Amino acid sequence: MSGRAWADAPSAVRGVLLQADGPAARVTIALDRQAQARTFFLSDPHRFVIDLVNTRLALPQGASGEGPGAGFVRRFRYAPQPNGGARLVLDLEAPARLLRQDVGGRRAPELTFDLTPTTPFAAAPAAGQPRRPQRRTIVVDAGHGGRDPGAIGRTGVREKDVVLDAALQLRQALESRGNYRVAMTRDADRYIPLEERLHFTRAQNADLFISIHADSNANAEAAGASVYTISERGEARAQNMAQNWDIDLGDVPREGVAHDILLNLYQRETTNRSAQFAQTVIPRLGEVAPLLRNTHRNAGLYVLLAPDVPAVLIETGFLSNVADERRLADPRARQAMAEAMAQAVDSYFAAPQLMAARA
Ligand SMILES: [Zn+2]
Repeated sequence: MSGRAWADAPSAVRGVLLQADGPAARVTIALDRQAQARTFFLSDPHRFVIDLVNTRLALPQGASGEGPGAGFVRRFRYAPQPNGGARLVLDLEAPARLLRQDVGGRRAPELTFDLTPTTPFAAAPAAGQPRRPQRRTIVVDAGHGGRDPGAIGRTGVREKDVVLDAALQLRQALESRGNYRVAMTRDADRYIPLEERLHFTRAQNADLFISIHADSNANAEAAGASVYTISERGEARAQNMAQNWDIDLGDVPREGVAHDILLNLYQRETTNRSAQFAQTVIPRLGEVAPLLRNTHRNAGLYVLLAPDVPAVLIETGFLSNVADERRLADPRARQAMAEAMAQAVDSYFAAPQLMAARA
């Protein structure tokens, strides 16, 4: 086989993911090797066309078919082309322009296109697909509880008590805003296993998961709040676990390469969104509480493992530190932290960023 023949080997489309936030939409095409693309718009009706050079379709429905849209993209259709390429057509609800085009991620060969409508449009719900409600669902998780007290301070302050109060304050702060639905893994002094917290969160179809804890360290000097999101290692673990979870990936079969690739896209999106919330909440917390150095930390914490829910774990301070214990025992300080978290939730959802659509 000549080098040229190798270079000409076609790439294969393994998955197509549509994501939306409000009117904007992102289409991600997962490939097994990088491919060239030519794009253009058509009107009457409005469409966005992606022609992939020397590419075959390895999508679940066969050589051609269609998939669900998101945002102002009603659906996408695909078919092989006579010239050996593949064509993807996005049916749009309105005329649009291309905001951004990205070739290749660091981890996987893929193409990404961000589209935004150029005129306002009234979206009709797609048949059989109820639109996502505008109200965001936040799961607030107070760590520990019941027979598990968590960390205990020098004067006897218990983690399970102070984090429950902070969580209840956060629920109140969010509910008073009117645009959030808050679900709590516990609202009383109860023991809840970690798996149960995780399954509860997924069952809520949550947009964000916030776990509240207080730390402890052998070094009594260690002090300040910190925010954890999932680590790369934890991500790999989540991926293994996710194989057993019923994740709605539209028409994609539950087994096989296409499923794995789409799951991977979801997970990366979730990891990015978790990091975004962490970066939003840290400065807010810093206004009302001391922060630990290297405030944003990564860990394979079990409770953060849901592959499709952005999640953070907030350590509100160290009960092993005298000043932090005094602060955490103070209801006003806990309320200030809860309000800081609620403000971060506002900023996070107000940011013009693309969100994974589960539709
Ligand atoms: Zn804890």
